[in-house]
Amino acid sequence: MIEVKDLCKRYDGRTVLDGISACFAPGEVVALVGPSGSGKSTLLRCLNGLEPFDAGSIRVGDDVLAPGVQRARGAQVSNIRRRVGFVFQQWHLFAHRTALGNVIEAPRYVRGLDAKAATELGRALLEKVGLSHREGAYPSELSGGEQQRVAIARALAMEPEALLLDEPTSALDPERVGELVELLSRLREDGLTLVAVTHEMRFARELASRMLVLHGGRILEEGPPAQVLERPRHERTRAFLGLER
Ligand code: ADP
Ligand code: MG
Repeated sequence: MIEVKDLCKRYDGRTVLDGISACFAPGEVVALVGPSGSGKSTLLRCLNGLEPFDAGSIRVGDDVLAPGVQRARGAQVSNIRRRVGFVFQQWHLFAHRTALGNVIEAPRYVRGLDAKAATELGRALLEKVGLSHREGAYPSELSGGEQQRVAIARALAMEPEALLLDEPTSALDPERVGELVELLSRLREDGLTLVAVTHEMRFARELASRMLVLHGGRILEEGPPAQVLERPRHERTRAFLGLER
């Protein structure tokens, strides 16, 4: 449902995405890995229209993003933002709103649901992420893992078809990582497409059906996690994974 073609992105004349082509099917879970600075976060931001790019195109269903379209900031951009949710590395919750308040903000003010409908939806989503008992808590009163769940519920409130997560395990204790795998697996069963940037190979292996290895703004290699991790085809993948020759 997401199709990326020859995507190029430059910062100040420096190429950071260098002709990325990839497809993400409905219900597919993809782990995006690669060394620091390889362009993982930039690619995610491009995928939901947060970041302008210089060449290529991104298609989500019948909505297409291309450099010209994006400059015009038309309906295509807002459609794609709605269809593709994003969970930031630092969550970016509204500090002055409760967990429930964070989740119902977009349904109320972007989707235009009335207070009752938005609250019902918000409660259902907090239940889905296992946080019903914390609906009245403010972000500062929540653990990192709980804040992340609020951020996931908030993204789901726009009823996206895909969810992008940037390093979702980086702020979690090891024992919380399993719970995140469980939650994301449930979302996958609902048919959501998931693309997660991660450094944790165990997380990638448990969750993803496909792994994309980014290097210097290009896709170096892709395949099922077990295959990429055990029999990487490229020397640079081996080096990145810290494997012996
Ligand atoms: P990753 O997430 O894989 O670590 P990024 O996508 O964050 O990599 O960054 C890719 C490259 O683009 C890096 O060299 C980084 O310094 C550069 N970069 C990222 N964001 C910006 C920006 N806003 N302005 C200039 N350069 C940037
Ligand atoms: Mg990054």
